Amino acid sequence: MKTLLIIFFFFANTTCTESTTVYICNSNGAKKYHLKENCKGLSTCQHKILKMTLEKAKADGKTLCGWED
Ligand SMILES: [Zn+2]
Repeated sequence: MKTLLIIFFFFANTTCTESTTVYICNSNGAKKYHLKENCKGLSTCQHKILKMTLEKAKADGKTLCGWED
């Protein structure tokens, strides 16, 4: 039982600390984040492309780009 608890906490902790890098276009109207730096949606970006964690992108109110599969 104790072992099961340790395994549970290990996985819960892994999920919480997992950080995915995403890309956003640094323009005022940008509301999307991208999983790939060479995404179609980013190719039209006229501004700087910023790298950040998925958590931060979501905290900023960004949603996944429609081009991602
Ligand atoms: Zn995209």
